[in-house]
Amino acid sequence: MGKTILILGGGTAGVAAANVLADVLPPGNHLTLVDRSPVHLFFASLPLLLVGRRKPGQLTRELSRLESRGLKFIQTEVEGLDLVGKTVLTKAGKLPYDALLIALGAERNEGLIPGQKEWAFNPYSLEETGQLSAKLARFPGGRIALFIADLPFTGAVAPYEIVLLLHDYFRRRGLRRQVEIVLITPEQRPFSFAPPKISTAVAELLAQAGIKLLTGHSVTRITKTGELFLDRGELTADLILAIPSHEAPPCLRSSPLAGPGGWLEVDPHSLETAWEAVYALGDVTGIQTSTGHWLPKVGFFAHYQAEVAARNLALKLSGKEPSFKFRGGAAGASMLTAFRRGCFVSLSAYAIPPAMTLSPPNTLAYLTKTIFEKYWLTAWF
Ligand SMILES: Cc1cc2nc3c(=O)[nH]c(=O)nc-3n(C[C@H](O)[C@H](O)[C@H](O)COP(=O)(O)OP(=O)(O)OC[C@H]3O[C@@H](n4cnc5c(N)ncnc54)[C@H](O)[C@@H]3O)c2cc1C
Repeated sequence: MGKTILILGGGTAGVAAANVLADVLPPGNHLTLVDRSPVHLFFASLPLLLVGRRKPGQLTRELSRLESRGLKFIQTEVEGLDLVGKTVLTKAGKLPYDALLIALGAERNEGLIPGQKEWAFNPYSLEETGQLSAKLARFPGGRIALFIADLPFTGAVAPYEIVLLLHDYFRRRGLRRQVEIVLITPEQRPFSFAPPKISTAVAELLAQAGIKLLTGHSVTRITKTGELFLDRGELTADLILAIPSHEAPPCLRSSPLAGPGGWLEVDPHSLETAWEAVYALGDVTGIQTSTGHWLPKVGFFAHYQAEVAARNLALKLSGKEPSFKFRGGAAGASMLTAFRRGCFVSLSAYAIPPAMTLSPPNTLAYLTKTIFEKYWLTAWF
């Protein structure tokens, strides 16, 4: 008899898993994807939307389009798991499964720092990034502060891309001298999961662009008049951007799958949880590297993890030995440094100690990222 495979979450990992399984699942099995949202969002292009190089509709795809691949899409909220009964609890009722892939990502909480929700823009939200883009077009000059509320956060390159793109945006408009850009991070150094030489290179990129970097600082409160109170000191800004605190999805935090911080515990190579036929993928997982840092929550890892879990599951359902392994590596990723410029990034997060390279800014790295964006939004949908 055919098995029922449920994928929770239609983000990076869920969409990759759904597409791979649609291709490799033995016939007769049933595949269902669940997401609260009707659309998939390609987060990596939000920084380009911010500086007017994308329109909101270019970053999203209807998840129902995946049904043409032979799977079923259900738009509903996941509320909990019954692992013993092999059932997912949703607003639309109970969904039984034989195999489960959990890819619910991270929840973003803007309510932990007083004033953040009211007086800061969230550049990780499609809606607010659109509003912010319109505001930037009218920005007369002054100080722009971007802060990272807490660790871990998703999209390791995103805060750096945002401030570097802002620098480029105002430079092109002849307004750069009138704009001060400040990046505030609780990390002691940028990319603290990587070797110190990478942090130095990133700090140099920011310094060359005249961007002020405040490391090891946490924002504790924001006021209507643009005051940012830090754990040490304070500053004022005319425009505040805040990357919210990231948390494990509330519906999973009390599940037996959750480890420290509520993030799901998995085998770092197979993405299997301690429960038979239950996998967790992408940002929802809590994997630690040899230096005790969280494995960066990035799309290319979510994608590769999904490929590994989906292919291994298909092998198991065909009575074969799973043979794929996630090795914590990625090459050919990019960090944008300007419109039409970027640095190539490679990362071996499972190496002891973790290794990373960052190329000098070049046009090819930018093109690679935009070609990948086109590929993702067409090939998968
Ligand atoms: C601004 C920005 C820029 C980034 N840039 C890059 C980059 O350049 N390169 C890179 O590799 N990564 C980048 N990232 C990170 C990357 O987008 C994430 O790591 C990736 O999306 C994680 O995939 P995921 O499937 O685990 O989670 P997500 O993509 O967040 O998907 C989770 C899905 O689950 C759904 N969901 C959540 N809770 C529920 C629930 N209770 N019920 C139903 N559905 C639910 C959500 O609606 C969502 O569709 C960036 C992120 C941001 C925000």
